[in-house]
Amino acid sequence: MIRKIDKTSVGEALRAAYDHCKTETGGKNADYIPYLKNVAQNLFGIAACLPDGTLLTVGDTEFRFGIESVSKVPTALLAMEQYSDHEVLRKIGADATGLPFNSIMAILLENDHPSTPLVNAGAISACSMIKPVGESAGKWESIVNFLTALAGSPVEVIDELYRSESDTNFNNRSIAWLLKNYGRIYDDPMMALDLYTRQCSLGVTASQLATAAATIANGGVNPTTGKRVFRAELTPRIVSLMATVGFYEHTGDWLFQTGLPAKSGVGGGIMAVVPGVMGLAAFAPPLDAAGNSVKAQKALAFLARQLELNLFGTTRCTVAEPVAAKA
Ligand code: GLN
Repeated sequence: MIRKIDKTSVGEALRAAYDHCKTETGGKNADYIPYLKNVAQNLFGIAACLPDGTLLTVGDTEFRFGIESVSKVPTALLAMEQYSDHEVLRKIGADATGLPFNSIMAILLENDHPSTPLVNAGAISACSMIKPVGESAGKWESIVNFLTALAGSPVEVIDELYRSESDTNFNNRSIAWLLKNYGRIYDDPMMALDLYTRQCSLGVTASQLATAAATIANGGVNPTTGKRVFRAELTPRIVSLMATVGFYEHTGDWLFQTGLPAKSGVGGGIMAVVPGVMGLAAFAPPLDAAGNSVKAQKALAFLARQLELNLFGTTRCTVAEPVAAKA
């Protein structure tokens, strides 16, 4: 079955999701990174970006928050773009861990394999793979420029968050050295760790995350700029990774309930991709025990039901015409 949705129905659904979730008080801010503990708890925003570039928003969608683990998505895509999807599969993997995002045991259980670029181990490994683009630029510029292209507007590190993370990331340091021991760091391990820490500290808005998600949904062409950011064949690859491990040990529960591939971060952001249809993002700082935003999950689950976005269902949504790449 095909269900046609348009700007009006998506806009109404966003408003209804916001009203449905705004009084939710569950969860608490991440506190293992001191900066995140102090972000206002009641911030809440939801954004949708359609394939024609229309951005629909409700709530605090222009507030800049730490992207955290949602940054694993662009860097995984960049690694696949620079090498190939198969090379990322070979060097890192594409399996669910079923364990927390910072699990060291997952590395040991997988016989030295970081499993997937969407957990800390695989993300640090992916950072070590990234190549500089252009002669004067470094790896870091490649990462920032790629996210900027995906989101359609500039992103910047939140310095205080970066300091806060760098001062406390002892577990991630262990992961980087363990991976080095297993030959899964493809450059200097402490540099890879620093790139990872910095990318987690990038500030983004829910509007930017929804646009980045829409670029993925649109086969690599950013619908707001018309620019091709990555090869179309990588959309199903990255969406499969998001579906497999986007909520860590709660991923199965999430997929069972929503059928919506998405990726969370401990800053409170979640980005969801409905391939060929739209990009969605929600943001609210309080998290559940696995580090996923309680309100953002609730809002996206509401939208998945309301707009019938479940990828495993028999209904397929269509919206506005997609934007093709500029010549
Ligand atoms: N920077 C955080 C960490 O490595 C990201 C974790 C997350 O968002 N799940 O611990």
